[in-house]
Amino acid sequence: MPATPGASYAQPLRPAIETSIFDLFKCGPGPSSSHTIGPMKAAADFAGLCAVLPPEEAARARRLEVRLFGSLSATAEGHGTPGAILAGLMGHEPAACPPGLLQRLQAVPDREYALRCAEHAVPVSMANVLHDVVRHQFPYSNTLCMSLLDENGVSLASREYYSVGGGFIQWKGWSPPERGKPAYPYGSMRKLREWLRQSGLTLHELILENESAITGRSRPDIFAQLDEIMDAMTDSVQRGLDAEGELPGSLNVARKARTLLASASRVPHAVDRFLGKVNAYALAAAEENAAGGVVVTAPTCGAAGVMPALLHAMRKDLNIGARAVREGLLASVAVAFLAKHNAGIAGAEMGCQGEVGVASAMAAAMLAHARGNAAEIVENAAEIALEHHLGLTCDPVGGYVQIPCIERNAVGAIKAYNACLLATCEDAAKHRVTLDAAIRAMADTGREMSVKLKETSQGGLAVSMVEC
Ligand code: SF4
Repeated sequence: MPATPGASYAQPLRPAIETSIFDLFKCGPGPSSSHTIGPMKAAADFAGLCAVLPPEEAARARRLEVRLFGSLSATAEGHGTPGAILAGLMGHEPAACPPGLLQRLQAVPDREYALRCAEHAVPVSMANVLHDVVRHQFPYSNTLCMSLLDENGVSLASREYYSVGGGFIQWKGWSPPERGKPAYPYGSMRKLREWLRQSGLTLHELILENESAITGRSRPDIFAQLDEIMDAMTDSVQRGLDAEGELPGSLNVARKARTLLASASRVPHAVDRFLGKVNAYALAAAEENAAGGVVVTAPTCGAAGVMPALLHAMRKDLNIGARAVREGLLASVAVAFLAKHNAGIAGAEMGCQGEVGVASAMAAAMLAHARGNAAEIVENAAEIALEHHLGLTCDPVGGYVQIPCIERNAVGAIKAYNACLLATCEDAAKHRVTLDAAIRAMADTGREMSVKLKETSQGGLAVSMVEC
Protein backbone atom coordinates (compact mmCIF):
# COMPACT_ATOMS: atom_id res chain seq x y z
CA MET A 1 0.00 0.00 0.00
CA PRO A 2 1.52 3.37 -0.92
CA ALA A 3 2.27 5.67 1.97
CA THR A 4 0.13 8.75 2.44
CA PRO A 5 2.25 11.50 3.96
CA GLY A 6 0.68 12.88 7.12
CA ALA A 7 -2.16 10.30 7.02
CA SER A 8 -1.38 8.70 10.37
CA TYR A 9 -0.48 11.92 12.13
CA ALA A 10 -3.35 11.47 14.54
CA GLN A 11 -2.04 8.16 15.88
CA PRO A 12 1.75 8.13 15.89
CA LEU A 13 3.33 5.65 18.30
CA ARG A 14 4.91 8.56 20.18
CA PRO A 15 4.43 12.32 19.84
CA ALA A 16 5.96 13.32 16.53
CA ILE A 17 9.23 15.22 16.28
CA GLU A 18 8.61 18.74 14.99
CA THR A 19 12.12 20.12 15.36
CA SER A 20 13.79 21.86 12.44
CA ILE A 21 17.26 20.87 11.25
CA PHE A 22 18.37 24.42 11.97
CA ASP A 23 17.11 24.34 15.53
CA LEU A 24 19.61 21.53 15.95
CA PHE A 25 22.58 22.87 13.97
CA LYS A 26 23.25 26.41 15.15
CA CYS A 27 26.35 28.55 14.95
CA GLY A 28 27.36 30.27 18.16
CA PRO A 29 30.22 30.95 20.55
CA GLY A 30 31.59 28.14 22.70
CA PRO A 31 32.29 26.66 25.07
CA SER A 32 28.84 25.30 25.89
CA SER A 33 25.49 25.20 24.15
CA SER A 34 23.57 24.81 27.41
CA HIS A 35 25.75 27.13 29.52
CA THR A 36 26.74 29.77 26.93
CA ILE A 37 24.38 29.78 23.93
CA GLY A 38 21.21 28.89 25.93
CA PRO A 39 21.73 31.58 28.62
CA MET A 40 22.59 34.13 25.92
CA LYS A 41 19.34 33.37 24.13
CA ALA A 42 17.39 33.51 27.42
CA ALA A 43 18.93 36.89 28.27
CA ALA A 44 18.19 38.25 24.78
CA ASP A 45 14.59 37.09 25.20
CA PHE A 46 14.36 38.80 28.60
CA ALA A 47 15.87 41.99 27.19
CA GLY A 48 13.03 41.90 24.64
CA LEU A 49 10.47 41.71 27.48
CA CYS A 50 12.07 44.66 29.27
CA ALA A 51 12.18 46.74 26.09
CA VAL A 52 8.40 46.63 25.72
CA LEU A 53 7.41 47.20 29.35
CA PRO A 54 4.62 49.77 29.83
CA PRO A 55 6.32 53.18 30.38
CA GLU A 56 5.03 53.62 33.95
CA GLU A 57 6.48 50.23 34.98
CA ALA A 58 9.73 50.79 33.10
CA ALA A 59 10.17 54.07 34.98
CA ARG A 60 10.11 52.15 38.29
CA ALA A 61 12.75 49.60 37.20
CA ARG A 62 15.94 49.77 39.27
CA ARG A 63 17.70 46.43 39.31
CA LEU A 64 18.04 43.18 37.40
CA GLU A 65 18.54 39.90 39.19
CA VAL A 66 19.63 36.70 37.43
CA ARG A 67 19.77 33.52 39.53
CA LEU A 68 21.54 30.43 38.27
CA PHE A 69 20.58 26.96 39.47
CA GLY A 70 21.87 23.42 39.04
CA SER A 71 24.79 22.78 36.74
CA LEU A 72 24.60 26.40 35.53
CA SER A 73 25.36 27.57 39.05
CA ALA A 74 28.11 24.99 39.60
CA THR A 75 30.10 25.61 36.43
CA ALA A 76 29.09 29.07 35.21
CA GLU A 77 32.55 30.65 35.28
CA GLY A 78 34.31 27.92 33.30
CA HIS A 79 31.52 27.98 30.73
CA GLY A 80 31.47 31.76 30.30
CA THR A 81 27.83 31.96 31.44
CA PRO A 82 27.91 35.46 33.05
CA GLY A 83 29.48 37.00 29.91
CA ALA A 84 26.97 35.21 27.71
CA ILE A 85 24.08 36.56 29.82
CA LEU A 86 25.47 40.09 29.66
CA ALA A 87 25.87 39.80 25.87
CA GLY A 88 22.27 38.56 25.57
CA LEU A 89 20.99 41.44 27.71
CA MET A 90 22.75 43.79 25.32
CA GLY A 91 20.76 42.23 22.49
CA HIS A 92 23.36 39.89 20.98
CA GLU A 93 22.17 36.62 19.46
CA PRO A 94 24.61 33.67 19.38
CA ALA A 95 24.78 33.29 15.60
CA ALA A 96 25.82 36.93 15.16
CA CYS A 97 27.94 37.27 18.29
CA PRO A 98 31.12 39.23 17.44
CA PRO A 99 34.28 37.13 17.87
CA GLY A 100 35.87 37.57 21.29
CA LEU A 101 32.94 39.57 22.72
CA LEU A 102 32.33 37.19 25.65
CA GLN A 103 36.00 37.21 26.61
CA ARG A 104 36.07 41.02 26.48
CA LEU A 105 32.99 41.23 28.71
CA GLN A 106 34.40 38.73 31.20
CA ALA A 107 37.73 40.59 31.34
CA VAL A 108 36.08 43.62 33.04
CA PRO A 109 33.47 42.05 35.33
CA ASP A 110 32.61 45.28 37.16
CA ARG A 111 31.85 47.32 34.07
CA GLU A 112 28.21 48.38 33.82
CA TYR A 113 26.08 48.33 30.67
CA ALA A 114 22.56 49.60 30.01
CA LEU A 115 19.54 47.32 29.86
CA ARG A 116 16.85 49.17 27.96
CA CYS A 117 13.44 49.22 29.66
CA ALA A 118 11.10 51.14 27.32
CA GLU A 119 12.44 54.73 27.43
CA HIS A 120 14.53 54.06 30.54
CA ALA A 121 17.70 52.10 31.26
CA VAL A 122 18.84 49.94 34.17
CA PRO A 123 22.57 49.37 34.80
CA VAL A 124 23.65 45.73 34.51
CA SER A 125 26.98 43.98 35.06
CA MET A 126 28.16 40.52 35.92
CA ALA A 127 27.43 41.31 39.56
CA ASN A 128 23.74 40.89 38.67
CA VAL A 129 24.33 37.18 37.97
CA LEU A 130 23.97 35.23 41.23
CA HIS A 131 24.81 31.60 41.92
CA ASP A 132 21.99 29.75 43.64
CA VAL A 133 21.70 26.11 44.73
CA VAL A 134 22.96 23.18 42.63
CA ARG A 135 20.24 20.76 43.78
CA HIS A 136 16.75 22.10 43.20
CA GLN A 137 13.19 21.18 42.27
CA PHE A 138 12.88 22.89 38.88
CA PRO A 139 11.99 20.56 36.01
CA TYR A 140 15.40 21.02 34.30
CA SER A 141 18.87 21.09 35.81
CA ASN A 142 19.99 24.18 33.91
CA THR A 143 17.53 26.76 35.23
CA LEU A 144 17.98 30.51 35.33
CA CYS A 145 15.46 32.95 36.77
CA MET A 146 15.51 36.55 35.61
CA SER A 147 13.65 39.34 37.38
CA LEU A 148 13.45 43.06 36.84
CA LEU A 149 12.83 44.70 40.22
CA ASP A 150 11.77 48.10 41.53
CA GLU A 151 13.45 49.85 44.44
CA ASN A 152 11.48 47.75 46.95
CA GLY A 153 12.36 44.48 45.30
CA VAL A 154 8.92 44.11 43.71
CA SER A 155 9.07 42.24 40.42
CA LEU A 156 8.07 44.16 37.28
CA ALA A 157 8.93 41.34 34.90
CA SER A 158 10.25 37.85 35.52
CA ARG A 159 10.75 34.63 33.64
CA GLU A 160 11.98 31.16 34.66
CA TYR A 161 14.16 29.82 31.83
CA TYR A 162 15.38 26.30 31.20
CA SER A 163 18.45 25.67 29.05
CA VAL A 164 17.63 22.16 27.93
CA GLY A 165 20.74 21.31 25.92
CA GLY A 166 22.08 22.00 22.44
CA GLY A 167 21.30 25.72 22.85
CA PHE A 168 17.54 25.06 23.03
CA ILE A 169 15.68 27.11 25.64
CA GLN A 170 12.23 26.91 27.14
CA TRP A 171 10.57 28.79 29.98
CA LYS A 172 7.80 28.20 32.46
CA GLY A 173 4.57 28.25 30.47
CA TRP A 174 6.44 27.92 27.17
CA SER A 175 4.76 26.13 24.32
CA PRO A 176 6.44 25.15 21.05
CA PRO A 177 6.07 27.63 18.20
CA GLU A 178 3.29 26.92 15.72
CA ARG A 179 4.71 25.11 12.73
CA GLY A 180 3.61 22.85 9.95
CA LYS A 181 3.19 19.16 10.67
CA PRO A 182 5.82 16.69 9.47
CA ALA A 183 4.92 14.81 6.29
CA TYR A 184 6.18 11.57 7.87
CA PRO A 185 5.58 11.90 11.62
CA TYR A 186 7.80 9.79 13.84
CA GLY A 187 8.92 9.77 17.44
CA SER A 188 10.93 6.56 17.37
CA MET A 189 13.31 4.73 15.05
CA ARG A 190 10.71 2.01 14.76
CA LYS A 191 8.20 4.45 13.30
CA LEU A 192 10.85 6.01 11.09
CA ARG A 193 11.78 2.56 9.78
CA GLU A 194 8.10 1.91 8.98
CA TRP A 195 7.85 5.16 7.00
CA LEU A 196 11.02 4.39 5.07
CA ARG A 197 9.65 0.99 4.13
CA GLN A 198 6.22 2.29 3.15
CA SER A 199 7.33 5.40 1.30
CA GLY A 200 10.37 4.02 -0.48
CA LEU A 201 12.21 7.22 0.42
CA THR A 202 15.82 7.24 1.53
CA LEU A 203 16.57 8.52 5.02
CA HIS A 204 17.88 11.88 3.83
CA GLU A 205 14.89 12.38 1.50
CA LEU A 206 12.46 11.73 4.37
CA ILE A 207 14.27 14.23 6.62
CA LEU A 208 14.10 16.78 3.79
CA GLU A 209 10.38 16.16 3.22
CA ASN A 210 9.71 16.71 6.90
CA GLU A 211 11.85 19.84 7.04
CA SER A 212 9.92 21.36 4.13
CA ALA A 213 6.59 20.43 5.70
CA ILE A 214 7.52 21.80 9.12
CA THR A 215 9.18 25.04 8.03
CA GLY A 216 7.67 25.65 4.59
CA ARG A 217 11.15 26.10 3.12
CA SER A 218 12.15 25.01 -0.35
CA ARG A 219 14.84 22.42 -1.02
CA PRO A 220 17.32 24.91 -2.52
CA ASP A 221 16.87 27.09 0.55
CA ILE A 222 17.47 24.15 2.91
CA PHE A 223 20.48 22.98 0.89
CA ALA A 224 22.01 26.46 0.96
CA GLN A 225 21.78 26.62 4.76
CA LEU A 226 23.06 23.05 5.13
CA ASP A 227 26.09 24.02 3.05
CA GLU A 228 26.66 27.01 5.33
CA ILE A 229 26.51 24.72 8.36
CA MET A 230 29.01 22.31 6.81
CA ASP A 231 31.33 25.19 5.94
CA ALA A 232 31.04 26.52 9.50
CA MET A 233 32.02 23.07 10.79
CA THR A 234 35.11 22.87 8.60
CA ASP A 235 35.96 26.50 9.43
CA SER A 236 35.98 25.59 13.11
CA VAL A 237 38.43 22.76 12.32
CA GLN A 238 40.64 25.01 10.21
CA ARG A 239 40.74 27.82 12.77
CA GLY A 240 41.67 25.29 15.44
CA LEU A 241 44.45 23.87 13.26
CA ASP A 242 45.83 27.34 12.61
CA ALA A 243 45.87 28.41 16.27
CA GLU A 244 48.57 27.91 18.88
CA GLY A 245 49.06 28.80 22.53
CA GLU A 246 47.07 28.18 25.66
CA LEU A 247 43.33 27.97 26.08
CA PRO A 248 41.61 30.47 28.41
CA GLY A 249 41.22 29.58 32.08
CA SER A 250 43.27 28.46 35.04
CA LEU A 251 44.10 24.94 33.80
CA ASN A 252 46.82 26.20 31.41
CA VAL A 253 45.81 23.68 28.77
CA ALA A 254 47.88 24.01 25.61
CA ARG A 255 46.31 23.65 22.19
CA LYS A 256 47.52 20.41 20.58
CA ALA A 257 45.67 20.08 17.28
CA ARG A 258 48.28 21.75 15.08
CA THR A 259 51.16 19.64 16.45
CA LEU A 260 49.08 16.49 16.23
CA LEU A 261 48.29 17.10 12.57
CA ALA A 262 51.97 17.67 11.79
CA SER A 263 52.91 14.43 13.58
CA ALA A 264 50.10 12.50 11.91
CA SER A 265 51.25 13.65 8.48
CA ARG A 266 54.71 12.19 9.11
CA VAL A 267 53.78 8.69 10.29
CA PRO A 268 54.61 5.99 7.74
CA HIS A 269 51.46 3.90 7.93
CA ALA A 270 48.41 5.15 6.01
CA VAL A 271 45.92 3.93 8.63
CA ASP A 272 47.77 5.66 11.47
CA ARG A 273 48.03 8.76 9.32
CA PHE A 274 44.29 8.83 8.69
CA LEU A 275 43.30 8.18 12.31
CA GLY A 276 45.84 10.75 13.47
CA LYS A 277 44.31 13.33 11.17
CA VAL A 278 40.78 12.61 12.42
CA ASN A 279 42.10 13.05 15.98
CA ALA A 280 43.68 16.38 15.01
CA TYR A 281 40.50 17.63 13.31
CA ALA A 282 38.41 16.77 16.37
CA LEU A 283 40.87 18.41 18.77
CA ALA A 284 40.99 21.48 16.53
CA ALA A 285 37.23 22.14 16.62
CA ALA A 286 36.97 21.23 20.31
CA GLU A 287 39.86 23.56 21.17
CA GLU A 288 38.19 26.31 19.16
CA ASN A 289 35.06 25.71 21.21
CA ALA A 290 37.02 25.79 24.48
CA ALA A 291 38.53 29.12 23.39
CA GLY A 292 35.05 30.62 22.93
CA GLY A 293 35.25 30.56 19.12
CA VAL A 294 32.22 30.09 16.92
CA VAL A 295 31.28 26.43 16.45
CA VAL A 296 28.23 24.47 15.34
CA THR A 297 26.07 22.71 17.93
CA ALA A 298 26.22 19.09 16.82
CA PRO A 299 24.35 18.30 18.93
CA THR A 300 26.04 20.57 21.51
CA CYS A 301 29.08 22.84 21.76
CA GLY A 302 30.88 20.49 24.14
CA ALA A 303 30.67 17.80 21.46
CA ALA A 304 31.29 20.20 18.57
CA GLY A 305 34.49 18.44 17.48
CA VAL A 306 33.07 15.02 16.62
CA MET A 307 30.87 15.71 13.58
CA PRO A 308 33.25 18.32 12.05
CA ALA A 309 36.17 15.89 12.39
CA LEU A 310 34.41 13.18 10.40
CA LEU A 311 32.90 15.68 7.99
CA HIS A 312 36.28 17.26 7.32
CA ALA A 313 37.85 13.82 6.83
CA MET A 314 35.04 12.78 4.47
CA ARG A 315 35.61 15.88 2.35
CA LYS A 316 39.40 15.94 2.46
CA ASP A 317 40.72 12.45 3.09
CA LEU A 318 37.99 9.99 2.09
CA ASN A 319 37.10 11.74 -1.17
CA ILE A 320 33.36 11.52 -0.57
CA GLY A 321 31.51 13.91 -2.89
CA ALA A 322 29.74 17.05 -1.65
CA ARG A 323 26.27 15.69 -2.35
CA ALA A 324 26.88 12.45 -0.46
CA VAL A 325 28.33 14.37 2.49
CA ARG A 326 25.24 16.59 2.61
CA GLU A 327 22.98 13.54 2.47
CA GLY A 328 25.00 11.98 5.28
CA LEU A 329 24.56 15.13 7.35
CA LEU A 330 20.80 14.86 6.85
CA ALA A 331 20.85 11.23 8.03
CA SER A 332 22.70 12.30 11.19
CA VAL A 333 19.85 14.70 11.95
CA ALA A 334 17.45 11.78 12.52
CA VAL A 335 19.77 10.35 15.20
CA ALA A 336 20.03 13.65 17.05
CA PHE A 337 16.26 14.25 16.88
CA LEU A 338 15.52 10.79 18.28
CA ALA A 339 18.06 11.19 21.09
CA LYS A 340 16.78 14.64 22.05
CA HIS A 341 13.14 13.61 21.81
CA ASN A 342 13.43 10.40 23.83
CA ALA A 343 16.31 11.08 26.23
CA GLY A 344 18.26 14.36 26.14
CA ILE A 345 21.42 15.90 24.76
CA ALA A 346 22.57 18.03 27.71
CA GLY A 347 25.48 16.91 29.87
CA ALA A 348 23.56 18.27 32.87
CA GLU A 349 20.68 15.86 32.16
CA MET A 350 22.33 12.84 30.53
CA GLY A 351 26.04 13.09 31.31
CA CYS A 352 28.52 13.01 28.43
CA GLN A 353 26.73 10.06 26.82
CA GLY A 354 24.12 12.65 25.75
CA GLU A 355 26.74 14.97 24.23
CA VAL A 356 29.76 13.12 22.85
CA GLY A 357 27.81 9.82 22.76
CA VAL A 358 25.06 11.32 20.60
CA ALA A 359 27.58 13.22 18.47
CA SER A 360 29.44 9.97 17.84
CA ALA A 361 26.19 8.21 16.88
CA MET A 362 25.35 11.09 14.52
CA ALA A 363 28.80 10.93 12.91
CA ALA A 364 28.59 7.15 12.47
CA ALA A 365 25.21 7.55 10.75
CA MET A 366 26.54 10.38 8.58
CA LEU A 367 29.47 8.32 7.32
CA ALA A 368 27.43 5.14 6.84
CA HIS A 369 24.74 6.98 4.88
CA ALA A 370 27.21 8.99 2.78
CA ARG A 371 28.85 5.73 1.78
CA GLY A 372 25.55 4.59 0.33
CA ASN A 373 24.53 2.03 2.95
CA ALA A 374 20.94 1.00 3.59
CA ALA A 375 19.00 2.66 6.43
CA GLU A 376 19.27 -0.54 8.48
CA ILE A 377 23.08 -0.30 8.43
CA VAL A 378 22.97 3.44 9.14
CA GLU A 379 20.83 2.73 12.20
CA ASN A 380 23.20 -0.01 13.34
CA ALA A 381 26.21 2.29 12.97
CA ALA A 382 24.50 4.94 15.12
CA GLU A 383 23.41 2.35 17.66
CA ILE A 384 26.92 0.87 18.03
CA ALA A 385 28.46 4.31 18.54
CA LEU A 386 25.86 5.27 21.16
CA GLU A 387 25.88 1.89 22.91
CA HIS A 388 29.58 2.20 23.60
CA HIS A 389 29.22 5.61 25.19
CA LEU A 390 26.47 4.52 27.59
CA GLY A 391 27.25 5.52 31.17
CA LEU A 392 29.78 8.18 30.15
CA THR A 393 29.73 10.87 32.82
CA CYS A 394 30.18 14.61 32.52
CA ASP A 395 32.98 15.75 34.84
CA PRO A 396 34.72 18.79 33.34
CA VAL A 397 37.73 19.74 35.44
CA GLY A 398 37.36 23.20 36.95
CA GLY A 399 34.10 23.65 35.04
CA TYR A 400 36.06 24.28 31.82
CA VAL A 401 35.06 22.46 28.64
CA GLN A 402 38.65 21.27 28.22
CA ILE A 403 39.56 18.21 30.30
CA PRO A 404 38.28 15.59 29.50
CA CYS A 405 36.09 17.22 26.83
CA ILE A 406 38.63 18.00 24.09
CA GLU A 407 40.21 14.55 23.85
CA ARG A 408 36.81 12.99 24.35
CA ASN A 409 35.74 14.57 21.06
CA ALA A 410 38.65 12.84 19.32
CA VAL A 411 37.78 9.50 20.90
CA GLY A 412 34.12 9.99 19.94
CA ALA A 413 35.09 10.68 16.32
CA ILE A 414 37.28 7.57 16.08
CA LYS A 415 34.54 5.50 17.74
CA ALA A 416 32.12 6.80 15.11
CA TYR A 417 34.44 5.66 12.35
CA ASN A 418 34.80 2.24 13.96
CA ALA A 419 31.04 1.94 14.56
CA CYS A 420 30.50 2.56 10.86
CA LEU A 421 33.07 -0.12 10.02
CA LEU A 422 31.47 -2.61 12.42
CA ALA A 423 27.99 -1.95 11.04
CA THR A 424 29.03 -2.20 7.41
CA CYS A 425 31.09 -5.37 7.90
CA GLU A 426 28.57 -7.35 9.93
CA ASP A 427 25.38 -9.02 8.71
CA ALA A 428 22.84 -6.25 9.46
CA ALA A 429 20.05 -8.78 10.04
CA LYS A 430 22.01 -10.30 12.93
CA HIS A 431 22.42 -7.00 14.78
CA ARG A 432 20.44 -7.39 18.02
CA VAL A 433 20.18 -3.93 19.58
CA THR A 434 18.01 -1.23 18.04
CA LEU A 435 18.74 2.50 18.16
CA ASP A 436 15.51 2.95 20.15
CA ALA A 437 16.81 0.48 22.78
CA ALA A 438 20.17 2.28 23.05
CA ILE A 439 18.43 5.66 23.43
CA ARG A 440 16.11 4.21 26.08
CA ALA A 441 19.14 2.83 27.93
CA MET A 442 20.78 6.26 27.74
CA ALA A 443 17.66 7.91 29.19
CA ASP A 444 17.48 5.41 32.08
CA THR A 445 21.21 5.67 32.77
CA GLY A 446 21.10 9.46 32.65
CA ARG A 447 18.21 9.55 35.12
CA GLU A 448 20.06 7.28 37.55
CA MET A 449 23.40 9.08 37.23
CA SER A 450 24.38 11.08 40.30
CA VAL A 451 24.04 14.83 39.93
CA LYS A 452 27.75 14.98 40.83
CA LEU A 453 28.50 13.40 37.45
CA LYS A 454 26.26 15.63 35.36
CA GLU A 455 28.18 18.81 34.59
CA THR A 456 28.54 20.05 38.14
CA SER A 457 32.29 19.38 38.43
CA GLN A 458 31.58 17.74 41.80
CA GLY A 459 32.63 14.19 40.91
CA GLY A 460 34.72 11.99 38.64
CA LEU A 461 37.82 13.45 37.01
CA ALA A 462 36.80 16.93 38.14
CA VAL A 463 37.63 16.06 41.74
CA SER A 464 40.25 13.37 41.21
CA MET A 465 42.82 15.66 39.60
CA VAL A 466 42.52 18.71 41.87
CA GLU A 467 46.14 18.47 42.98
CA CYS A 468 47.47 18.62 39.41
S1 SF4 B 1 32.45 16.06 29.79
FE1 SF4 B 1 31.26 15.81 27.89
S2 SF4 B 1 29.19 16.53 28.44
FE2 SF4 B 1 30.59 17.27 30.00
S3 SF4 B 1 31.13 19.36 29.37
FE3 SF4 B 1 32.71 17.93 28.59
S4 SF4 B 1 32.01 17.40 26.51
FE4 SF4 B 1 30.24 18.29 27.57
